[in-house]
Amino acid sequence: MTYAIVPAGGVGSRMGSPRPKQYLRLGRAPILVATLRALARTPGLAGIVVAVPEAHVAATRRLLARQRVPKILDVVAGGADRQESVWRALQRVPERARWVVVHDGVRPFIAGGLVARVRTAAAGGAATCGMPVRETVKRVRAGAVEATIDRDGLWTTQTPQVFTRALLWEAHEKARRDGFAGTDDAMLVERLGTTVAMVPGLEQNLKITTREDLRTARGWARPRRRA
Ligand code: C5P
Repeated sequence: MTYAIVPAGGVGSRMGSPRPKQYLRLGRAPILVATLRALARTPGLAGIVVAVPEAHVAATRRLLARQRVPKILDVVAGGADRQESVWRALQRVPERARWVVVHDGVRPFIAGGLVARVRTAAAGGAATCGMPVRETVKRVRAGAVEATIDRDGLWTTQTPQVFTRALLWEAHEKARRDGFAGTDDAMLVERLGTTVAMVPGLEQNLKITTREDLRTARGWARPRRRA
């Protein structure tokens, strides 16, 4: 059985909007609704647990019911960072779940097949998707280049990421024990010494973070929904 966790507990400080970015509109629906609808289309997905800011739990439950978003198992209060939000949502994933898909609430453009591709790549226990870095990467301090990083073999990573429930649980538990904060779930699994498979994601699988991202996403959503 496969379940999904959608961390959407951020308050969107980089967007400069009083409303968390996941509730801003993309076409007719909020970004979060668009993401959940796209994710719910994944064949074989049994249910979705969503983590949102604590103050938005009740309103989000109403919103998802009103918009008839399928497969919603629960809406929980997220934590202070993404990792804590995923951990809290993981508590609600049923024990019968063998696989857990983790997907950011602000990535609505997961076109057909991507979740299934990552899920297939996770046969060994863990997989993520991403894109090879095409530009030259530099580390910058105080406005000056400190170093150029050899980009050979460098990828940026996206979600969906897929893990067995047991592995994701163990990875989060260890990170919590060690006081380790990671920026994605794969990183926590890597710390266990487990191999995480990487498959190509999608150029269009944008994480809507800034106003500029939102303009881009709205431009894509206007003529024809690509999700
Ligand atoms: O801000 P960041 O890039 O980490 O956001 C990625 C995803 O994690 C977003 O969907 C955001 O809502 C979510 N998040 C969360 N809980 C937090 C912070 C971010 O679920 N406390």
